[in-house]
Amino acid sequence: MFASSSSKPTVIIIGRPNVGKSTLFNRLIGKRLALVDDQPGVTRDRRIGDAEIAGLEFQVVDTAGWEDEDPDTLPGRMRKQTEVSLEGADAAMFVFDSRVGITPLDEEIARWLRGQEVPVVLVANKAEGTQGDAGIYESFSLGFGEPVALSAEHGEGVADLFDHLWPIIGAKAEAAEAEAEAADAEDGEDAPAGPLKLAIVGRPNAGKSTLINRLLGEDRLLTGPEAGITRDSIAVDWEWTDPRSGETREIRLIDTAGMRKKAQVVEKLEKLSVADARRAIDFAEVVVLLLDATRGLEHQDLKIASMVLEEGRALMIAINKWDVAEDASALFNGVRAALDEGLAQVRGLPLIAVSAKTGKGLDQLLCAAFDLREAWSRRVPTAALNRWFDDALEANPPPAPKGKRIKLRYITQASTRPPRFVVFGTRLDMLPKSYERYLVNGIRSKLGFEAVPVRVVLKSPK
Ligand code: GDP
Ligand code: GDP
Repeated sequence: MFASSSSKPTVIIIGRPNVGKSTLFNRLIGKRLALVDDQPGVTRDRRIGDAEIAGLEFQVVDTAGWEDEDPDTLPGRMRKQTEVSLEGADAAMFVFDSRVGITPLDEEIARWLRGQEVPVVLVANKAEGTQGDAGIYESFSLGFGEPVALSAEHGEGVADLFDHLWPIIGAKAEAAEAEAEAADAEDGEDAPAGPLKLAIVGRPNAGKSTLINRLLGEDRLLTGPEAGITRDSIAVDWEWTDPRSGETREIRLIDTAGMRKKAQVVEKLEKLSVADARRAIDFAEVVVLLLDATRGLEHQDLKIASMVLEEGRALMIAINKWDVAEDASALFNGVRAALDEGLAQVRGLPLIAVSAKTGKGLDQLLCAAFDLREAWSRRVPTAALNRWFDDALEANPPPAPKGKRIKLRYITQASTRPPRFVVFGTRLDMLPKSYERYLVNGIRSKLGFEAVPVRVVLKSPK
């Protein structure tokens, strides 16, 4: 056994010398660390490294080679060491050289492995091109089923190991991930931390300055009936008490309404409001697009909204001047419908009615902003993600254009803030956009990203 610094699953690489164990180890840890050589037995000690295949994290152990010799010789001792390493392993990758085919030593290792408890994944290395085909066929006789054909040197097929390792170590990897996440959350690392960075954007005269003043509770910004009388952009830190928990929460408000004084005509003002929004987006986590109840949702608003979403920021909509709205419920429903149609990529954006003048809806607005940041920062554990993915594929399998099957293998969340997902598979260039949308909608509605801009990237393993 060996000391393990984490509770990640451990996968040990076993095989006779020169089949490419060190090369595979290097490939999996993504570094040129182990010494690779044509000379058999160059790998003397076991090495342990952190490996990752499409979000599945484990520790990989490269063992010393295996020679069919006297236990007192060096190769014999190395074999002893392999046996010891195996005791701590959750899975073994048994590597053979598919170009050479199955040798008596491979057979001996196979016999020995069958007597061990550890689940075995058979790996046919050096399988680039077709030169390994005969060896792959031969390897069925070892009794470990179909091998994973790959080329450790060129990287081809390495991602396919995921399909074979996942059923064996997925649950343990998941638990380790959850544990690490909990530890991170305690350290305040991964969880959304620091003040909520909030920006309020919108057309001139929507009431941005009035709203900011109201939120801050002081008449610090200049407002008036004339469109756009605001100074340069500023950021203000303040505290707000969350009425749901009574907790004090920090907010950094960005007001980029500046420079409008210089503009003379409304046309220019409209352009400037877009420029303001662009600057706000650079700062903000959550952007509130403020509408004017007396005008409803206009083309310019949709333009700003799309820009916010394209930049991957969390977007919410507030309808201001609710105190003077005429047919309030018709207005609300009309804006909701126009949003869902105009911004089909994110249905169900938070939509809140407020009045900067009376203070109506402002707590609700801030509650929704914090919730939205939470969703925008969310990470879905790989196992849960792939459970959803399998169900989604089963419910609606990808099409087979011209009789060719598109294979979608697995999904991983590559990043948060905004959430990005990578789907691995083959023939992805043939996947219709409608199917991509089906997946994005599923992620949104089933995994808690309702109102958040979600990105999905398709990737074919090399
Ligand atoms: P180990 O003794 O099992 O650790 O094997 P190494 O990783 O040292 O590799 C032995 C030799 O096989 C080296 O010359 C590698 O460059 C070569 N090799 C490893 N993987 C591949 C592969 O996928 N294709 C080919 N053609 N050669 C490989
Ligand atoms: P900005 O250009 O977006 O910063 O808009 P201002 O904050 O300068 O507001 C433009 C005008 O709308 C001013 O006359 C405000 O008094 C008015 N206004 C702002 N919010 C409200 C509101 O909630 N209700 C009403 N009735 N008027 C408002």
